[in-house]
Amino acid sequence: KEQEMGWKFDNSYARLPQSFFSKISVNPVASPSLVILNKTLATSLGLNVDYLQSKEAVEVLAGNKVPQGGAALAQAYAGHQFGHINMLGDGRALLLGEQVTPAGNRVDIQLKGSGRTPYSRGGDGRATLGPMLREYIISEAMHGLGIPTTRSLAVVTTGEEVIREKVLPGAILTRVAASHIRVGTFQYARGIGKIEELKILAEYTIKRHYPTIEDEENPYLSLLQEVIKRQAQLIAKWQLVGFIHGVMNTDNMTISGETIDYGPCAFMDTYDPATVFSSIDREGRYSYKNQPYIGGWNLARFAETLLPLLHEDEDEAIKLAQEAISNFTTLYHMNWQKGMREKLGLFNEEIEDEALIDQLLGMMEKYHADYTNTFVALTLDKVKGTDMFASEAFISWNKRWQERLERQEETIEDAKELMKKSNPVVIPRNHKVEEALEAAVENRDYSVIENLLKVLVNPYEYTLEREDYCKPADPSAGNYQTYCGT
Ligand code: AMP
Ligand code: MG
Ligand code: MG
Repeated sequence: KEQEMGWKFDNSYARLPQSFFSKISVNPVASPSLVILNKTLATSLGLNVDYLQSKEAVEVLAGNKVPQGGAALAQAYAGHQFGHINMLGDGRALLLGEQVTPAGNRVDIQLKGSGRTPYSRGGDGRATLGPMLREYIISEAMHGLGIPTTRSLAVVTTGEEVIREKVLPGAILTRVAASHIRVGTFQYARGIGKIEELKILAEYTIKRHYPTIEDEENPYLSLLQEVIKRQAQLIAKWQLVGFIHGVMNTDNMTISGETIDYGPCAFMDTYDPATVFSSIDREGRYSYKNQPYIGGWNLARFAETLLPLLHEDEDEAIKLAQEAISNFTTLYHMNWQKGMREKLGLFNEEIEDEALIDQLLGMMEKYHADYTNTFVALTLDKVKGTDMFASEAFISWNKRWQERLERQEETIEDAKELMKKSNPVVIPRNHKVEEALEAAVENRDYSVIENLLKVLVNPYEYTLEREDYCKPADPSAGNYQTYCGT
């Protein structure tokens, strides 16, 4: 029977020392109902799509029933939230188990919004429909953009009301992740003070995410270096599409290098490096321009947790950690520069590229240009119709860019192909996401989300008719704001 459903669990996290998690018995909800299902993802996980739409599966996706072979648990972790360390843990999430996919990958199947756990503190352990659908949309859009991310398998409504500033419909998201091990998991392990358990976690993480470094001379240093490499790649990708995470606390930074925790995130439309969307981020700690810096800061916290494993001599350990951390900035810049060159159709590297890129961004900032649409216009040679494109500065920049394109070996057609692969036509525009969520939450009309998702899964498709999804929000809409913890 389980085979028909497709569940194939192997729960390695549950075999770690007890201090890393709490076993959870179910926390049933009143009347669960499936509202959105990711059939493509389900199939790739080896799950039966018909089964997932059955009453029985909905009980599982609502946390009312743990499937055979699953091991329901809440993970313990700590984290720096806006710079301050706290003991946290899954306060409203439940790891159902680790699904082994037909391709042989191991992924966490986690319910978000599934009720209280020993780590809930004052919270109710619940989530609401709008934000769970929002995570579904944005995470799938990120995947479409080619950015490592947790995925969304399904959203169910619970049939219960959740009390926030308003009374809202309760919902649970099924999240799929390479793992939920975070920088904060290591902070927790270091914090409990048992080096043996820290070592077990590090070894577990290496086996699960970086198996090729297992036999290296100093696998813990290699772990640090690999995570630094992945995060440098990840954050560069965020910057290149204008994604603002919004709450880069250390508990929201994965060791796998996947984007996680879609709360107050949003995409930037008008190019402004100081952009912040989160209502609680009053000082702009997690602004667009700060993301690489915060990435480095978080990784330094990760490095600190590993010190006892890096070297038996503390000074030596600190030296190794500092060397690794100082490399982050270089790696980040390499990734970002490469990505920016690709956005401009450049295959090779020239000294002046940096100036070319900076000058373009400078003009975009000055003229309040739409970030995504500017690169699309460059890709399509449609550099008309805006103040920026009409400016002397742009005309002279464009001339130098054309000369630069002609200097490289590749043809202009090659350059345009590269640009099409590097410049998305669509991003999840805030007003389009809001429009889709409103239809879903107010009218229980999920068709607007389904249509939006059809476009977002193919963001580099230049041939489709999608005009309506590409327009920036009307300026009269005012500044967009996002919220945490809803
Ligand atoms: P986040 O800001 O989403 O990273 O969440 C920070 C911490 O707050 C995590 O430990 C969450 O599990 C916890 N948390 C967020 N919302 C709730 C809630 N409604 N009930 C219990 N815990 C919550
Ligand atoms: Mg979180
Ligand atoms: Mg969150």
